[in-house]
Amino acid sequence: MIQALGASQGIAIGKAFVLPHWEWELPDQKIDVGDLAKEFDRLYEGIRRSKTEISQMKTELDEAVGSEEASIFDAHLAILEDPVFMNEIQGIIQRQYKVAEVAVKEAIDHFVTMFDLLDDEYMKERALDIKDVGNRLLKHLLGAPEISLPEDTQPFVLVVRELSPSQLVHLKPELVLGIVTMVGSPTSHSAIMARAFGIPMVMGAEGKLEQPIGTGDLLILDGETGMLQVDPTPEMVARYTEMRRRLIAQKEQLLKLAEVPSVTMDGLSLTLAANISSLKELEAALGNGAQGVGLFRTEFLYMDRSHFPSEEEQFEVYRTAVQKLKGETLVVRTLDIGGDKQLDYYEMPEEENPFLGFRAIRFSLKRKDLFKIQLRAILRASNYGDVQIMYPLITSVEEVREANEVLAEAKRELEAEGVPFRSDIKAGIMVEVPAAVAIADILAEEASFFSIGTNDLIQFTLAVDRMNEQISHMYEPFHPAILRMIRSVAQAAKAKGIPVNICGEIAGDVNALPIWLALGIDELSLSAQAILPVKERLLRSKASDSRRLLDGLFRCRTSKEARELARQFHAEAALAPGSANPLV
Ligand code: PEP
Ligand code: MG
Repeated sequence: MIQALGASQGIAIGKAFVLPHWEWELPDQKIDVGDLAKEFDRLYEGIRRSKTEISQMKTELDEAVGSEEASIFDAHLAILEDPVFMNEIQGIIQRQYKVAEVAVKEAIDHFVTMFDLLDDEYMKERALDIKDVGNRLLKHLLGAPEISLPEDTQPFVLVVRELSPSQLVHLKPELVLGIVTMVGSPTSHSAIMARAFGIPMVMGAEGKLEQPIGTGDLLILDGETGMLQVDPTPEMVARYTEMRRRLIAQKEQLLKLAEVPSVTMDGLSLTLAANISSLKELEAALGNGAQGVGLFRTEFLYMDRSHFPSEEEQFEVYRTAVQKLKGETLVVRTLDIGGDKQLDYYEMPEEENPFLGFRAIRFSLKRKDLFKIQLRAILRASNYGDVQIMYPLITSVEEVREANEVLAEAKRELEAEGVPFRSDIKAGIMVEVPAAVAIADILAEEASFFSIGTNDLIQFTLAVDRMNEQISHMYEPFHPAILRMIRSVAQAAKAKGIPVNICGEIAGDVNALPIWLALGIDELSLSAQAILPVKERLLRSKASDSRRLLDGLFRCRTSKEARELARQFHAEAALAPGSANPLV
C-alpha cells in the first residue's frame, strides 16, 4: 500500500489501463531557404487546427461541467498566441532551417525545462500546459492520431505519468473508475476537473511504487486519503468494495432530503442557501435542495473572457439565475476582484500585499463606470424575482454610503429610461474584515443584511494568509477570537433587526452547526455538496441543546479545546435518544 496525494474524493477498484506517453518520432531533415515561407504556412495551419480543436473541447467541457473548468482551455489558446513562445518557434525555423515539428519540440523543451527549474508549483503547472498545447500542435503538424483510450472495454482505472486537461476532457466518465498520476498536485487543473466530473483521483505516486503499474493490474485507490494499492488481497477488495458501496449509498440517501424543510427537531428554521459562481453551479445547488443563493461570486463572470462583461450579458445571467430560483432569493455579490483573483485583460498595479490591496469594493468605487454597469444589470434582474445586492470587503460606513450613492444613481438612470426594477432592492454587506466587526453596530444601520465571510475574516483576524501552505495549520475557524467575532456580529444584527448569514467555508462544517443555531444565524450559504450533510445534521438537532454547547464554547481558551468540544457535542448528539436519523 502506498500513500500518494488525495486529489478527488471517492473509492475506485478496477484494472489499470496505463496510458503511454504522448511522444512521436520527428522528421530529421532541414529545409531549403526557398521553402521557408511554405514551412511557416505549415506551422500556421497547425496552429489554426489546434485552436479549432481546443475551442471545441472548451465548448464540450463548458456544457459538461461549467465555464469555470472550461476556462482552462483559454490558457491553452493564449499559449498559441503568446509572442514569446511563437517567436521561439519561428526563430528556430528561420535561423536554423529546422522543420516546424522540430522547432515546436525544441521550443516546448526549452520552456518546460525553464519552468520546471523554478521552485513554484504554479509555474510547474504552466509547464504542463505548454507541453500539452505543444504536443497538440505537433500532432497536427505530423498528422498523427490522438492518443485514444480503450472504448469497447470494461471500465478501468487510468494510470498516467501526468494528465493534461485536454486529455481529461476526452475521457468518458462512465468508463473511467479512477485516475492515478505519477506527478502533479491536487491544485492542478486536472485535479479541479476530476473533482468536477466526480472521478476519484490520487496524484504523485512516482517514487513510491515498488515496481511500475502495468495495464491489467488490479488497483484500489482512495481519492480522499491518497491510498493506492496494487494487486490487493481479496479481503482488501471486499473491504473497499463495502466502503465504496456505503459512500455511494450515503450520497443517494442524502438526496432524499433535498425537498425536506430545513427545521430543527424543536422547530427552528435555518435557511440553507448556496454559494455559486456560475449558472452551472446553480443547477447542482438546486439538485441538492438549495433554498436560494446566498452568495453569487460574480467575479467568475468577469474572468472567463477577454473583456469586461456588458450590462446586457450580466443582466442575462442574473435574470436566468433568479428565474431558476422560482421565488427564492438571489444575493449577487458585486465584483470581488483583486487579491488572488485577477483579470487577464485588466492590468492591476503591482502590489506587495494584494489581499490588503486594491480589491473588491475598493476597485468598484474607483471604477464607478464598471460598478454602475453591474448595479444596473442587477437592478434590471430584480424585476424578475427576489434579487439582493451585497458589497464585499466593507471596512467603513463611508464605503457603504458611497456604494449606495452609485446604486441610487443607477436607479435614477433606469427610471429616466423607463426600465423596470425593484426600487426597494436590499443592499447588504459582507462582514469579512475585523474593522467591520468592530463597528457592526454602526454598519447595521446602513446595511439591509450582514453576511459573515469567514474565509477572509479568519485570514485577517489571525494574520494567516489563506493561500500559504506553511501556516495553514494556523488557519483556525474555532479560534476563540473568531467565535467571539461571529457572536458580536450576530448580536449587533439582532439588536438592529437585520438578518445575519454565514457564507464562508466554515458554514459547511457540521460540527459548527449548533453555534449558528444558538446565535440565531438566519441563513447559511454553502457550496452545493455541503448542503445535504448540513441539512441531515440540522434535522436531528435541537436549538435548545445548542445553547448548552455555546456556553461551553465561550469558556474554551484555545482553538483545540473549542474544536474538540464541538466534535464531542456532535458525536453525543448523534447518539442521543430522540435524535433518530431522518433518513431511516
Ligand atoms: C469569504 O471571504 O468568506 C467569502 C465567502 O468570500 P470569498 O471566499 O469569495 O473571499
Ligand atoms: Mg471574501
